Order: sequence, then C-alpha cells, then structure tokens
Amino acid sequence: MKNLKFEELNLSDEILKAIGNKGYEEATPIQAQSIPYIMEGRDIIGQAQTGTGKTAAFGIPILEKLNQGEKTVQGIVLCPTRELAIQVAEEIRELAKFKRGVEVLPIYGGQPIDRQIKALKRKPQIIVGTPGRVMDHMNRGTLKIDKVRMVVLDEADEMLDMGFIDDIVTILKVVPEERQTMLFSATMPKPILELTKRFQKDPKHVMVVHKELTVPKVEQVYFEVKEKTKLEVLSRLIDMYNPKLSLVFCNTKRKVDELVAELQGRGYFADGLHGDMKQVQRDRVMSKFRSGAVDVLVATDVAARGIDVDDIEAVFNYDLPQDEEDYVHRIGRTARAGRGGRAFTFVVGREIFKLRDIQRYAKAKITLQKAPSSEDVEEVRTNLFLDKVIEIMDEDDLSQYVSIIERLAGEDYTSIEIAAALLKMAVGNKDKEVQHEETDFNDTGAEDGMVRLFINIGRNQKIRPGDIVGGIAGETGIPGKLIGSIDIYDKYTFVEVPREYAGDVIRIMKDNQIKGRRINIEPANAKH
Ligand code: AMP
Repeated sequence: MKNLKFEELNLSDEILKAIGNKGYEEATPIQAQSIPYIMEGRDIIGQAQTGTGKTAAFGIPILEKLNQGEKTVQGIVLCPTRELAIQVAEEIRELAKFKRGVEVLPIYGGQPIDRQIKALKRKPQIIVGTPGRVMDHMNRGTLKIDKVRMVVLDEADEMLDMGFIDDIVTILKVVPEERQTMLFSATMPKPILELTKRFQKDPKHVMVVHKELTVPKVEQVYFEVKEKTKLEVLSRLIDMYNPKLSLVFCNTKRKVDELVAELQGRGYFADGLHGDMKQVQRDRVMSKFRSGAVDVLVATDVAARGIDVDDIEAVFNYDLPQDEEDYVHRIGRTARAGRGGRAFTFVVGREIFKLRDIQRYAKAKITLQKAPSSEDVEEVRTNLFLDKVIEIMDEDDLSQYVSIIERLAGEDYTSIEIAAALLKMAVGNKDKEVQHEETDFNDTGAEDGMVRLFINIGRNQKIRPGDIVGGIAGETGIPGKLIGSIDIYDKYTFVEVPREYAGDVIRIMKDNQIKGRRINIEPANAKH
C-alpha cells in the first residue's frame, strides 16, 4: 500500500498544524483512502476497526467542510458507547485546535441531561452522541438537526448489536436528504448493508486490502497493560532479557520523544528516530545503535523503514500498529541473519480486537503473557548472570581474583558469603513495584476465562437480556458480544463477563444505573 503524507491530501494549514501537533507522521491506510472521497462529497462505507485511525479519517474532512461562521449543528457522529463518544469528540476537538470557533459536543446516556441542554445552547457545530440520547434531545426539542449536512455512523455493527438500529433509522429520516452519509463498521452484516442501501447515495466502499507478507519466525508474545504501566513493563522486559539491541515502536513522533526522555531518565542508553529528523541526525543515531553505544532505539514505522541491523534481539510494539502489515514489518526487524529474536506487543483495553485482526492476518501465534513482576525480573536476571559466571569459571584465568577472595575469606567471611554479596550487587532488585489493578476473583461458577456477576435486579423490574448488555456495554465500553451468558431471575440476574474486564465492570457499574435503577453488582457465589 502506498503511504501518503498528509501534505498530499490538500488539507488546510490549520488542520496540518493540528496533525503535526498530535505527532502523526503519515496518513494511515484508511485515512489515505477515505479522506479524498469524503472531501469530494461522496458517501462512503469504511470497513475498519478501532485503532486504524478511522476517527481522523472522517473527522478531518468534516472539519474541512464545516462552515465555521454558521452556528448550527452541521455534523453528527453516532457512536455505540459513551466511552467512544467521548474519545471521538476529543480527537475531533484536538484536530480542530487551530480552527477558530469550532465547537464539538459529546452527548451520551448517563450524564445529567440538564448539563447537556445547557451545552447545546452554546450552539456546537458537531455532535458526537449515542443514538438513544440524541433521540431524547430531538424529542425534547433541545437538539435541532435540520441543518445537518454530514452524518457518520461509527462502529455501525456495534450499534446494531446493542439494539440501536431503530433509533438510527429514526434519526436518519429526520436529517435533511441533502447530506453526506459516512458509515464505518468492522464487519458488514446484512442489516448494515440494508442501512447503506436505504440511506446512502452511491457510496464508495473503502477497505484496506493487505499484501500477503511472509511472517518471520519470531517468538511473539503480548501483554495486557494499561497506558500508564507501559514504561514500567518495558523496563522490566529489557532488564529481564537484556537484549543486545532493542527496537521499540511508537505510533507518533511525539510519543518517540517522550519515551526516549523517560528511558534516558531511567538510565537506559536510549535514543529516538522519526521522520522529522534531518539525515545527519538519523545517521548519527543509527551509527550509535549499530555500535551498541545506544542499545534501545525508539522509532516510528516511517523512520524504521529500511533499518537493517543484525543484532536486534527484541522488538517492542509499545503502541499497537495501526495497520496489520506494519506489525509484520516491525517484527521482521529482529531475528535477522539466522539469529533468534523476540517480539513483545503491548495491548491496552479494546486494542485486543485489533490484535486478533493482526493475528488472523499474520497467521501468527501471539501468546498472552503476564507482565513480569520484579521477582520474575530478578529470577531471570540471576539465571542469565549465573550462566555468565559459569562461562567465566570455565574459560578465563581467575588467579588474580582468587587471591583477593582468599584474603577476604581469611578474615571473618566464608567464600559463599562473599559470592552471595557479589551476586546481590550484580543482580539485586532495584525496581519499584508496578501497580497492577488486577483483582483476583474466586470461583464464581462462570465458564473458563469469565467471571459471573450478581446484579440485584431481575424479572420483577422487567429486566431483559438487552437491558443488561446495553447497560454494561454502554457504560463500560466493552463490546456487547463479549458479554457471556445472562440468567434472569425474579429479583436478581447473573451475567458473565470476561475476567480481564470484571474489575472494571464492577467499579464502573457500581455508580451507575440499569433501566433507570441504581444497582448493586458483585462477584457471584459459585454455589448459585
Ligand atoms: P481510531 O482508530 O480512530 O480509534 O484511532 C486510533 C489511535 O490512532 C488514536 O489514538 C489516534 O489518535 C491515532 N491516530 C490516528 N491517526 C493517526 C496517524 N495518522 N498516525 C498516528 N496515529 C494516528
């Protein structure tokens, strides 16, 4: 696929400046393909997952086509969850940073309606909302959409799964016919295709087709991490495996600079490489990396193209790549010239779906590993160190050192104590504890990998499975299809959720409502 610079997309200076500010180096494939059509005024069907850069793919052209002087709602983005609505609104707002007077407002269920009514009075031009809440405001007359010219259905398949299809149809019937309709969806089930037939005009179907690439034979693992624990986990993995050279990938220039500073602050010999650097600077960094003076190189995909260094023993996907092909290119930088190599990938929250796509595309086995604890680091480091000790005892002449140890041992110490002290100095644990927020759940009677939760509402409150899925998915942002079996009794309900999300679901839902009722939610007792 051809990689496009944003400069080639005929964008305004304000938008280019905002893109530069965010540190994006080049357009992702879905952006490169969608932006020109949307700018032309075409309807599009974009087949893309979260994590591919699809928000900017529609956000940038919407901002370019907006009439800044006109204080009416001109663009409306419908999203399945409140989490996504907030995220999308934030991304569009950042892209609009240098466009004057552009107001973007997220509206979603769960937030007090009065506050939203007040915010709507400020005349935002772009609304990002969940369908239910958008309908609610339309019915109250607090949101007028008769001047809307651009509509986006974001994650249409998710909205379908969550039962929003009727609301979407109602909204689309009210928006003026003279409009541009953009639909983004990871999958294209029949009801979505029907929606596109009914409500789009001659839509252009945009999807990213990938080349077949040969995937290198590299040991590939991934870690489920939080954004704020990435640095600690990276440091531990480097300490643990002590790779001769490591290559760490970030998605933006800004992230490269930040991470280099953080790693240097922790005492690593790290440096960075990205597209903004002059050739002489790059050459300098590369020659330090080749010689080992820098042993952790942090880079963007663009900058790392063409890096061909034999001793890279580990590749880290600090940010998950936006495009599947990039994953294969990245991990191919290690295990060169017949040497062994490892690829470590960090996955945050919903990025797990993106990883599944990568896995399918690369036909690779990427196995989940638990982030190393400080004890793990110490154990592996000790073993690696002891291997080295054995090698030295076997191969080197140690007579000069033996006499020093003998002298010390002659005083009050045994040679075992001296060896132990030296080992402690060499590999002793200096790390801080990483904060894991994982909660251990006892047996809740759920299927493997799931946790069964008890909720104190049921049939008596007219609860249906859709209310539970909609409530949990809508508030927590976990996709509806991940929610497992639901058993509704008169006074209570059991629902199974994936183990890795269970803690978050309990924490978020405790302060929330389902069908307008405050709930109590806790891990179930296996006996039930
Ligand atoms: P999305 O698929 O819209 O959820 O985007 C996923 C992430 O990619 C977000 O954090 C965006 O800020 C980021 N992103 C979007 N476009 C680019 C780009 N061209 N280069 C680097 N990062 C990007």
